[in-house]
Amino acid sequence: MSYSRYVTVRQHAQNQKVRFFESSRGARIAQIPLEAFPDFWVYAYLVFVDEWRVLIDSGSGFGKNNQNLEDGLAAAAEAWQRPLSFDSLTHILITHGHIDHFGGLGFVREKSAAPIGIHELDQHNLTHTEERLAEVARRMACFLADAGVPEDEAGQLVEIYKLTKLDYQPGRVDFTYEAAGMKLGPFEMLHVPGHSAGHVVIRLDDVLFCGDHVLSEISPHQAPEGLTLNTGLSHYLQSLQSLLGWATNIRLTLGGHNEPIHDLAGRIVEIQQIHQNRLNEILALLDEPHTIAEISHQLFGEVHGYNVLLALEEAGAHVEYLHQRGLLRIANLNEFTNGGGHTPIRYQTLLD
Ligand SMILES: [Zn+2]
Ligand SMILES: [Zn+2]
Repeated sequence: MSYSRYVTVRQHAQNQKVRFFESSRGARIAQIPLEAFPDFWVYAYLVFVDEWRVLIDSGSGFGKNNQNLEDGLAAAAEAWQRPLSFDSLTHILITHGHIDHFGGLGFVREKSAAPIGIHELDQHNLTHTEERLAEVARRMACFLADAGVPEDEAGQLVEIYKLTKLDYQPGRVDFTYEAAGMKLGPFEMLHVPGHSAGHVVIRLDDVLFCGDHVLSEISPHQAPEGLTLNTGLSHYLQSLQSLLGWATNIRLTLGGHNEPIHDLAGRIVEIQQIHQNRLNEILALLDEPHTIAEISHQLFGEVHGYNVLLALEEAGAHVEYLHQRGLLRIANLNEFTNGGGHTPIRYQTLLD
């Protein structure tokens, strides 16, 4: 199996129809596939339980996304034989502040006055998007220089990073989860920082909406905490562990991408193993000094476009994790100290 499989976040396009699920207490759930970007799919969920009509995530807001969302609502209305529109939503819950999950809010806000919720630590992504982009872009330029990416290529990567987020119109968020006691009626949230700073999973009866925290076919993308506080592999692995303890009696896990998960604990263990293997592989590679760009290439091979950035971030998150724990040293410390900001860092495994 190629490693690039873990980097790419493309969704298989075979399931482009709305699918329906039910919780143990009879909550009705519609899984709505949205083409967030060309050939890149994400799911929003519509939940109908008691007096609640809740939309979980909204897709990207690009291209066919909003039409897919509208069609999904219509398909659910027909299946459930109820009038259902954006008007009748009672709440909108966002699992995490990534554009493929919240970008559709620009469209949804125009059609619905339903209160929008997100965790405190991702709130800024939705309300002060430009500021977040500027901050991350600055840190990313530094990360890419340290990683050994040539300056012109690094500039292009930062532009690609910003490009997909620029169309989003920042707007209101009405409540945050910690302030709401990590609860909304029958919905309970658990904060699982890592893939994003304010990522939450949402439990309803025996169903878990897990955003991108646990996915069935890929290990969710990791970036270094150096880019955004409260992300990074340390937080992510801790969050996987806390989810194991919290999400007992979950029968069905519905993610933001990929197929539903029927054995959550088993899948969590697999993802933990993927990261452990990758950490071990990096320790072996760093027998000789290498930059993060070189490690990324060794792990993921030749990748293109946005995947170049994803691969570098993934490699960077693992190197950061090992370095934080004192398992790596900077092999070119003299050059690094005297060479200014543009000297790539060469890491090497510390022998004990
Ligand atoms: Zn995400
Ligand atoms: Zn996603």
